[in-house]
Amino acid sequence: MGTIIHALTADGNIRLAVISAPDIAEQARQIHGLSPTATAALGRTLLGTSLLGNDLKGKDDTVTVRFSGGGPIGNVVAVSDSNGNVRGYVDVPAADLPTRSDGKLDVGSLIGKAGTLTVSRDLGLREPYIGSVALVSGEVAEDFTAYLAESEQTASACGLGVLVGTDRSVLAAGGFLVQLLPGAPENLITALEDNIFMMDQLTTILHEDGAEEVMNQVLKGLEPHILSTEEVHYHCPCTRQRLSASLRSIGAEALKELAAEGTPAEVVCQFCGKAYRFPPEELTALAEETDTELL
Ligand code: ZN
Repeated sequence: MGTIIHALTADGNIRLAVISAPDIAEQARQIHGLSPTATAALGRTLLGTSLLGNDLKGKDDTVTVRFSGGGPIGNVVAVSDSNGNVRGYVDVPAADLPTRSDGKLDVGSLIGKAGTLTVSRDLGLREPYIGSVALVSGEVAEDFTAYLAESEQTASACGLGVLVGTDRSVLAAGGFLVQLLPGAPENLITALEDNIFMMDQLTTILHEDGAEEVMNQVLKGLEPHILSTEEVHYHCPCTRQRLSASLRSIGAEALKELAAEGTPAEVVCQFCGKAYRFPPEELTALAEETDTELL
């Protein structure tokens, strides 16, 4: 479980969301067998996506985030529902790199920056709303900030961090998304930038003092008050039905061949690792349904 705090400054000009969810990053690590740097890469992406998802208006809306930077980890994908419950995966979970000279995990090089961040919001319309920006650094938070600058009308800043212990488990994970509301005076941007520049390292604050202290430091001198606190989880809504749909996509012929082998086919959900078994007679039935649809 993790939490998202929503806050507003006393003058009503700045809103902030802070997420603290080490369990979400740790669960992702355990499901996928992520290396330390991959844990940070997917962890940051999951938590940033959770913040975007938590902001969606419609109950059934979802947001999908994809980093394709050309680095050794391949694609990093996360999906959030409108509560901020997230799931995700990476192409190469074991990919890892030496730590940077400042001791930090080298997420930027693992993701790479020769590519794009794509954000797809499915708002229940015929087509999802898709936005894409060139990657700034592959460090995730900077890329989210660039995306928000392009897609939103107001100034925004995002910070994300994952602290991985020597035993590879997640000690702290979280982040923030701060936005100036329409009509806010320009000088508030400078005040915010100063606060963010001066704040302690994000994962240190989260590890030692928690999400509320992140709020206090980002909105220092701006009299923040908390509007709400919400729970978020690593959650995969996969069902046998959904997985059978993806199995059908291989086509009737391939399904018949699988059925002829006489053993159950196993389909593993790429988001949560749950395995679904389809016995031969069910594969034959799926092949027949697929055949019928083609007629
Ligand atoms: Zn699943």
